[in-house]
Amino acid sequence: MNESDIRIAGERPPPSDWFVQAFAHAPIGMALIALRGAAAGRLLAANEALRAILRRGPGELEGLPLAELAPPGEADAGRVLMDRLVTGEITHFHDERRLLRPDGSPVWVLLHASLVTDEDGRPRYAVAQVEDITERRRAEAELRRREAAHRELAEVQGALRRVATAVAAGAAAPEVLAVAAAASAELLGASSAGVFRFEGDEAVQVGAWSEGLAGPAVRMPLGGRTATAEVARTGRPARRDDLRAELDPASARAISGHGAGSSISAPVLIGARTWGCITLSSVEARAFPPGAEGRLAAFAELLALGIASAEHRRQLEQLTLTDPLTGLANRRAFTEHLAADAARARRHGRPLALAMLDIDGFKAINDRLGHAAGDRVLVELATRLGRLSRSFETVARIGGEEFAWVLPDSDLAGARAAAERARGAVAGSPVAGVGRVTISAGVAQLRDGEDLDDLMRRADAALYAAKAAGRDRVSAAPPPVGSIG
Ligand code: GH3
Ligand code: MG
Ligand code: MG
Repeated sequence: MNESDIRIAGERPPPSDWFVQAFAHAPIGMALIALRGAAAGRLLAANEALRAILRRGPGELEGLPLAELAPPGEADAGRVLMDRLVTGEITHFHDERRLLRPDGSPVWVLLHASLVTDEDGRPRYAVAQVEDITERRRAEAELRRREAAHRELAEVQGALRRVATAVAAGAAAPEVLAVAAAASAELLGASSAGVFRFEGDEAVQVGAWSEGLAGPAVRMPLGGRTATAEVARTGRPARRDDLRAELDPASARAISGHGAGSSISAPVLIGARTWGCITLSSVEARAFPPGAEGRLAAFAELLALGIASAEHRRQLEQLTLTDPLTGLANRRAFTEHLAADAARARRHGRPLALAMLDIDGFKAINDRLGHAAGDRVLVELATRLGRLSRSFETVARIGGEEFAWVLPDSDLAGARAAAERARGAVAGSPVAGVGRVTISAGVAQLRDGEDLDDLMRRADAALYAAKAAGRDRVSAAPPPVGSIG
């Protein structure tokens, strides 16, 4: 550099080493780059700050082609910019790029380059200022990573909320299963999702969502090496990154046609029991990022809540169909069974009969021995009737001391015989602490096209007739003109 290049008007020329000193001691990396002649593209001079950035000793940078400082494949971009300086197309540029240190490690720099020309306007060299921005780039990358993680968390929470909402809304189990399968598959980028219940040595699919795959297998043996089988064995999340390579022939057959390349699975734990699992699959091998099975476990937990509450509801449902004193079907269950059995009888052209039974003089038992003794009679009667009835018949307590017995496949004679057995079973042996108890019964057979209320009215009328005739007896409604069977 020549001090006559820059002379401030009216000032004395600066000392001859003025610029040299400024260059050498600048706190920022500086270099002169030849643009013409044999040295074009080489460093003419470099200061100490640049040597420190690039971890070079004195004299090591001078004469070095700039391209040699660029990582492989990244030199051309710099050359293009230098060429544009030479042709005068641009007079300066700045650029973020990576440069290499002697040990091959990269350093991110902000590079400012500007053109210095001679009196004729021809390019002489470029002055470059080089700033180490590795730390800034690292901080930016960290920020991006945090932002991505935050976005991902928000997505996970959004998807989990969908499942939680379905659970909280008391959605039926299949709906919760479908929501959980779809939300987890969408979030974790799966092609299909299956919710499986473990039954013995098999996993039975109870809910599924699928896109691009045939859908999860409907039944899977649990002896193999699938992620699902591992969850069944360990009760912990599992993953298979390359199913085609990792699976034994039996497991491969079990999921054949399914076309999965990788899968993750997490347990659905209800109480201390591994109830089942949720398994996601992708067509691709290695489709799931590290830790994806852990995130699937959060869905599995919500799923467990939904399933547990659905099972609880089923138990409640069961209770609403059961008479709490005797454990027999209640009136509601009786009505449902009668309707279903009557429909079946009509479909198959089979007979169906109904018996109504009522304890004789029950009020007097209560009055004499107390309500608790009356209750014991009701329980004892339920037990005796239960023993007599067949598995496909329904015995219900439909009122205080009134019972109904649905007799599919029985005609009037059969029903009368059954009711007679019941009467005998009650009257035949005393009830402990109460003594001899008797019942009366009325039976009727379903007529062609008859309304079920009418059937019940006719059976009731027969019961009334039995009471009127002296109790402890069975009476049949008039022969079933046009009855089925
Ligand atoms: P009948 O021979 O004409 O059938 O006479 P009954 O006394 O059995 O008939 P009634 O309908 O007059 O009386 C039924 C009694 O059953 C009245 C009620 O106090 C009693 N009862 C109804 N539900 C229960 C119950 O859950 N427990 C007990 N201990 N008694 C009940
Ligand atoms: Mg009675
Ligand atoms: Mg009664």
